[in-house]
Amino acid sequence: MTVIVRFAPSPTGHIHIGNSRTALFNWLFAQKAGGRFILRFDDTDKERSKAEFADAIETDLAWFGIEPDQVERQSDRVASYDAAAAKLKADGLLYPCYETSEELDRRRSRARALGRAPVYDRGGLKLTDEERASLEAEGRKPHWRFLLPNHDGDPFQTRRTEVTWTDLCRGEQTVDLASLSDPVLIREDGSYLYTLPSIVDDIDMAVSHVIRGEDHVANTGVQYAIFKALGADMPTFGHHNLLTTSDGEGLSKRKGALSVGSLRESGLEPMAVASLAVLTGTSQSVEAVSDLSLLADKFDLSTVSRSAAKFDPADLDNLNAKLVHAMPFDVVYERLQKLGIVAGEDFWLIIRENCQKVIDAQHYWQIVHGVIKTKIADEDLEFVTQARKFLPEGDVTAETWGSWTSALKAETGRKGRGLFMPLRRVLTGLDHGPDMKAFLPLIGRQNILDRLPE
Ligand code: GLU
Repeated sequence: MTVIVRFAPSPTGHIHIGNSRTALFNWLFAQKAGGRFILRFDDTDKERSKAEFADAIETDLAWFGIEPDQVERQSDRVASYDAAAAKLKADGLLYPCYETSEELDRRRSRARALGRAPVYDRGGLKLTDEERASLEAEGRKPHWRFLLPNHDGDPFQTRRTEVTWTDLCRGEQTVDLASLSDPVLIREDGSYLYTLPSIVDDIDMAVSHVIRGEDHVANTGVQYAIFKALGADMPTFGHHNLLTTSDGEGLSKRKGALSVGSLRESGLEPMAVASLAVLTGTSQSVEAVSDLSLLADKFDLSTVSRSAAKFDPADLDNLNAKLVHAMPFDVVYERLQKLGIVAGEDFWLIIRENCQKVIDAQHYWQIVHGVIKTKIADEDLEFVTQARKFLPEGDVTAETWGSWTSALKAETGRKGRGLFMPLRRVLTGLDHGPDMKAFLPLIGRQNILDRLPE
């Protein structure tokens, strides 16, 4: 069987790190199985779906290295949904309802107050042709519900009807269809809610595995019934836990929480975000993995835990720093060039340990080549003036720092911090930074002399 997965965002906002978890799970799953990855835009909500969000989602996925084999838009496929809806209507499985959302809200509140499950009473099914005609004459437009197969012929006598599947993340799952309301598939304005288009697409695109967030578990029961009604088998499902911040708050697209774009713009590495998104909330340890194929080796849906995947955004910085500290020069070379850093490998290898992000290299480049302004403490002024005279002759090499500071130690009696810190400060403007032994040759003789007072 060819593995075909899909990532199906609604382009109603920017995707956040939690959505990227779903995308990456699907991508890695397909990679491991030699399968295909479809990017499907669930854009049936015409008002809220925007082309610019769809474009941004493609950009975000490309940043991770996810290249869809196929891109689909539900807005292009309405004819297929119409055909499926027509079949369900012909089979008596899609029926018109006329309640307003206020009426439905009232009924739900009443049911809850009476301690009953707020399940739709199938009022629409009781309507006679005349009643329907008179409601339509009043200007009411129907929405359409799918009749769940949770009865033995009399839809007003429901019985426990279990749908069971083996979930790739959660193991054995059961949903009782009698505990659910008949889902609305078509709105009053004739547009489709997500449910039916999603199933029609999954059937038409031969999706073999649906990997998505656990907020869709109850939908799977409903969708199972619709797959069957359309004469198709259900794909294999995997519902993963959702990412939350450490205080348990869920991420929201609308609130712009930790959008992939903002993480990218903050200078984080895609693999820092991907490592955290994929490994948090599993039984595996969260570590910085340097590319997607290595992450694919670790990735295993059965290690996803049942509780929420809590994370601290500060972990992203730590993972990022680890990736940067180990990043080879050939990987970073072009990015340094774009930052205006025309450095050789030695520069990168000396400074990378001090960078949290690649962009920090700019700071060290500036220190090597720019003008350093530091205020020299009064008690150090004489010392750094003396230092100028003791700078060893000739090229500055890896030996220079050692012989220079030894000579200064012998001359001034200074040692430890009192010896090294004033030099570090006056030459780099920093209290902490790269190893001076290695950094000094980068700064070079002329800059060293220019930075030491005469
Ligand atoms: N558009 C749906 C969502 O973003 C897709 C759910 C699914 O994968 O079936 O939640």
